[in-house]
Order: sequence, then structure tokens, then C-alpha cells
Amino acid sequence: MPKVISHFVGGAEFTGTSDRFAPVFNPATGAQSGRVALASRSDVRTAVETAVAAAPMWMRTTPLRRARILNAFLRILEQRTDELAAVITAEHGKVLSDAKGEIQRGMEVVEFAVGAPQLLKGEITENVGTGVDSHALRQPLGVVAGITPFNFPAMVPMWMFPVALACGNCFILKPSERDPSASLLLAKWLKEAGLPDGVFNVVQGDKEAVDALLNDPDIQAISFVGSTPIARYIYETAAKTGKRCQALGGAKNHLIVMPDADLDQAVDAIMGAAYGSAGERCMAVSVAVSVGEKTADALIARLEPKVRALKVGPGTDPEAEMGPLVTKQHLEKVRAYVDAGEAEGAKLVVDGRQLKLQGYEDGYFIGGTLFDRVTTDMKIYKEEIFGPVLSVVRADSYATAAKWINEHEFGNGTAIFTRDGDAAREFAQEIQIGMVGINVPIPVPMAFHSFGGWKASLFGDHHMHGPEGVRFYTRLKTITSRWPTGIRAGAEFVMPTMK
Ligand code: NAD
Repeated sequence: MPKVISHFVGGAEFTGTSDRFAPVFNPATGAQSGRVALASRSDVRTAVETAVAAAPMWMRTTPLRRARILNAFLRILEQRTDELAAVITAEHGKVLSDAKGEIQRGMEVVEFAVGAPQLLKGEITENVGTGVDSHALRQPLGVVAGITPFNFPAMVPMWMFPVALACGNCFILKPSERDPSASLLLAKWLKEAGLPDGVFNVVQGDKEAVDALLNDPDIQAISFVGSTPIARYIYETAAKTGKRCQALGGAKNHLIVMPDADLDQAVDAIMGAAYGSAGERCMAVSVAVSVGEKTADALIARLEPKVRALKVGPGTDPEAEMGPLVTKQHLEKVRAYVDAGEAEGAKLVVDGRQLKLQGYEDGYFIGGTLFDRVTTDMKIYKEEIFGPVLSVVRADSYATAAKWINEHEFGNGTAIFTRDGDAAREFAQEIQIGMVGINVPIPVPMAFHSFGGWKASLFGDHHMHGPEGVRFYTRLKTITSRWPTGIRAGAEFVMPTMK
């Protein structure tokens, strides 16, 4: 019988009442490794009630004490990175070095959140009127929830909960049901770091758990990261139920290669950004836009041998550069996109469908795939594939390349490779995308800045972590005070002004 992956509520594993489970697989072998409990509405309610009970105590806990607990959590993460990375690789499939990279990026958000006392300082103005002072402060919201995708089972939750906890909120995490185990390690280690029971809870589950969170009146805010159709649904439902919401969606990130770019540098950058983590990154580069035919020919000539030479293998193989896809269904979906690209007339330069890995015949592997002469009306250009499939689109000018990017549905990340300062500056200023790289292929902002896209890549006003995260997880209160100093103005019936 495969092991059961359960919830974590009130400082302990919680079995729940539901008899629904989903299988969890090792993507490298295709073998089932466990089954995850799928929370019922009443399981979610139990978690919410537990968090509501803990909320007054956690709100009153001083920011410095909260920061010290997060600091202890950071030390545990440092010491046990290998253990967490192994759990990620076993359920997600990414190579171990990449799993460690995601943990490192998550830890950087914890480092940022350790600055809670500094982050939560308010503003004060003395003498807004005679004897009157005004101060503004940011208070926690109460109980907030995070719903996260499969592709970063540790980092994306850590974009959310360290900041939420630092700001004094209790948190309920609903991780992806495809790789749920990392969330339980995070919960146990937070407890070990000294986090009081009930402040951080995990409910495993699917749409039923998500809907229960969306409709629960005690949840004040929802952070979501996942695909665009679900992000839109989360945002619209949260609006109806009166919750604050940030919902990050899918992506189709373009990288422009200008004729003056350092081509070797650009090609190395594209290889890592397109094929790292088997393309299952929201900031993966899935479209390379070459400006000019000569640039395109040179780009393809350099990319082709490198894509063919990609080392694909199980995530535990230290030589592997790319692991399997997450599930059999996702593998089939990605293969179908390659079929569609061929049928639509794109030139298939490297076909990853041919890959066979001895000893891993049942794993969800596909090799690196490269298309040339993709056009903007093709399905493989318009839709997010979320696999190791790179499309090269040939533009006649920078203006055409920029126009295509601006017209695309998604607006998560983009990059330009060039030596031309004017072109780079114009790109940074004018492009309609949330995160922009200049000779940087994956411009993921550091933890003390905020992460988020534009257009169909983000619904809501706030990006994640950094200053935007603090704003999202707190609400502003402004207090105007006067002390009895002997001034007696008498009753005033007109609008108070400073005459
Ligand atoms: P997904 O949308 O299928 O799932 C995300 C979460 O929503 C999961 O917790 C899942 O259980 C839940 N969910 C799924 N279907 C639901 C439904 N019908 N109703 C309610 N909840 C539902 O996404 P995924 O496949 O896990 O992750 C990949 C996607 O996430 C890609 O589109 C990728 O671009 C996106 N992503 C975006 C960012 C970003 O920062 N913009 C970061 C990482 C991943």
C-alpha cells in the first residue's frame, strides 16, 4: 500500500475525514510513490478554525519574536537543503541541483521576512494641526491562504508564507496534489523553529479544497500561483466573496536576439532558460525572437548541436541537465504540442519525442525540442506548452519583435540580448511585460524586490514578496490623535480643515 500524504493542522499531521485520494508518482520511473489525501470542505473548515483560534496570539506576538522564529527556520532550511531537495526531485522530477536552487531562492524570501521589524515600521507626522498628530501603521489581515502549483513545490509557497507570517498573519497552504510532500517538511520545520501551533497549516487537495478556501468567510486574502484559467477563476471568485487576491498565471516568455548580440552568450543563456527544469518554469524562455535572417541562421546553427547534446536523465543523476516532466498526462500534452507544431508547418530542427532512456522506459521523459520558422498564428506560439520546447520566430526588425511581445496574451517575463544601449533602454521602458532582462535570460527579481507579470500572467494589484508582499499581507490604518492641552475650539460642524 503506498504511503499516505496527509494534512498538517494545529502543529501535527492531520488525517482528515475525506475518503478521496490522488496518486503521487515518481516521474523518472512512472511508479506510484504515495497517495495524497484530498481535503473535504469540513477538513478545510477544521484548518481554518484552528488558524482563527491562533490568530489573536500571533498578531500580538512582537515582530522581533516572529523574525527570530523565521531566522531559526532559515537555519533549519540551510542544514536540511539536501533532504528537501531529494523530496522535491522524487515527486517533481527536476534534477537535484535545480531543486537546491529553488530552495535557495525560497530561503532568500525568508531572509527578507526576517527583517519584519524594519518592514513593519509605520509613518508619523507631528502637528498635522495644532496639537494634533497623525500616524499610519500596517496591521495583519488575520488568516490568509496560499494555493500553489506543482513546478516549485518549495519556492512558490516560500514566496508567500514567510512574508505573511512576518506580518502577523496565520497561513493555510494548499499545495499542488502532484508533489505534496515538500509542504509537510516545511510545516514540520516551522514548528521545530518555534512557530506556535495553528499559525501555519497545510491542507492537501484539489478543487474542493480550493473552493472551500475561496468561500470561507474567515479567510481574508488568497495568494495563488498556477495556470491562467485557474488564476482568473480564483481572482473572480475571490472578488465575489470579498477577499483580497493576487493570482499569478501562465506565461510565454520571449527573448529577443539582436544582430549585435554576443551570440555565444545568448545561446548559453537560451539553453539554460529554455531547457532547465524541462521548461516547467513560469519564467522559462519558450520563444527566441531573432532579428534579421542572418541572426536567425547563426542562432539555429549554434542551438541545434547543443539541444541534441542535452543530457536528459533522472533528477538523481548528477550528470543530468534535465529531468522528466511531472506526469504522464503532461508528457502527452507536450508531445501533442510538438505534433501540432509539425502539422502547422513549423520546421522541427530537433525532435525530443524520439528520446528513449534505457532503464527508464516508463518515466515521463521527452528530449529537448527545437522549432524554427514558427509564426505568430501557430498554436505552439500562442499557447503555453510548459515543456522543453523552444520556438524560434524570425523578425525583420526590433520593432516587429517588440510588437509581437506586446500583442501576446501573457506578460510574465522577457529579455533582450544586445550590445546597443539605446535599444536596451527603449525595450526596458516600452515593453508591456512585468519582468524584463537586459542580457539576463530569466529576470526573476530578488526577494527584496517583488515578483509578478502583467496581462494574463497576473490578476490583482500586488506582486509577490518584497515590498509588494508586505503591502498585500497588511492593511493600512491611519490614526489621528489630539491630547487635551487646554485648547477648546468648541463644537465644529464644518469639514475640519487647517486654516
Ligand atoms: P494549475 O493551475 O493546474 O494548479 C495550480 C493550483 O490550482 C494547484 O494547487 C491545483 O490543485 C489548483 N487547481 C487546479 N485546478 C483547479 C480548479 N479547477 N479549481 C480550483 N483549483 C484548481 O497549475 P500547475 O499545472 O500546477 O502549474 C503550472 C502552471 O503554473 C503554469 O501555467 C505556470 O506558468 C504557472 N506558474 C506561474 C507562475 C508565475 O509566477 N506566474 C509561477 C509558477 C507557475
